[in-house]
Amino acid sequence: MSPSPRFAVLGNPISHSLSPSLHRAAFEATDLIATYDPIQVIGPELGSVMGELTGSGGGGNVTLPHKESAAALLTRASSAVEATGACNTFWGEGDDLVGDNTDVVGFNRAVEGFLGQDLKGAKVGVLGSGGAARAVLHALLEQGPDRVWIWNRTPARLATLMEAFSHPSIKPVTTLEDGFPERPDLLVNATSLGLSPDDPLPISLERVRPHAVFDLVYGKPTTAFVVSASQQGIPATDGKTMLVHQAAAAFERWFEREAPLEAMMAALPRFPETD
Ligand code: NAP
Repeated sequence: MSPSPRFAVLGNPISHSLSPSLHRAAFEATDLIATYDPIQVIGPELGSVMGELTGSGGGGNVTLPHKESAAALLTRASSAVEATGACNTFWGEGDDLVGDNTDVVGFNRAVEGFLGQDLKGAKVGVLGSGGAARAVLHALLEQGPDRVWIWNRTPARLATLMEAFSHPSIKPVTTLEDGFPERPDLLVNATSLGLSPDDPLPISLERVRPHAVFDLVYGKPTTAFVVSASQQGIPATDGKTMLVHQAAAAFERWFEREAPLEAMMAALPRFPETD
């Protein structure tokens, strides 16, 4: 009997990752015989670990801080990897190491589930200019919004992002003192603020007055930004459903079949309200 294919999430640190729970639940729900483990990887090891996993017939996910390095190691990259410079999902095809950035489709599917519609013709405000913001911008361009305003704490990083995403609908915003030029239909937090319970809110919602809030960060049970929005009557969601949708899209790439979305959603940890 040949050994089962091995899958893993590679990052540093990695013990906090929810990916093993989501993918193990998916394998169980579909009777797939495969393993999925968290592996703490330091930079120089990345290529060899990716090679070992694809050599077993498996593949994996990549998270901070290796998404850009993983993109550089691919021999075949999806258009999402090329546009964002980041890879979060890889597998082998013949001699090729192939990769995608499923944060892009994960964002689009989660937003559609949250709003009940896509963002075609919408006005969107985005906070942040890191890897997640790149995935969000690429996802938004696929949807065709009317206008995307993007702000970042460090102007130089915003300028670099604007060079990579030069598109007439995307406008940089240097200060948020008076909010965005217009009220956004959706405000997206793609900064890492909210990961730590001591973090300040990414922005005062009174200033921006968005119609809805999508926080990429997720918390226990949700983020302070989502709580603040909800208290002001603004529909808001955190990043947990995006996490599940990017994982489901990874499953689809590896096995070329539909992912068991319900089983994956059910595998999200249930946090007590007071946790
Ligand atoms: P990253 O590349 O490290 O970028 C971090 C971003 O946060 C930068 O724009 C940074 O601004 C900003 N930031 C950090 N501290 C700040 C502060 N004190 N005030 C204002 N801005 C601050 O990280 P990333 O990969 O983009 O990830 C961002 C977040 O998205 C993380 O929390 C990650 O967990 C989450 N995420 C969620 C999903 C999901 O599926 N839900 C997927 C991907 C990412 P500067 O440039 O000024 O430093």
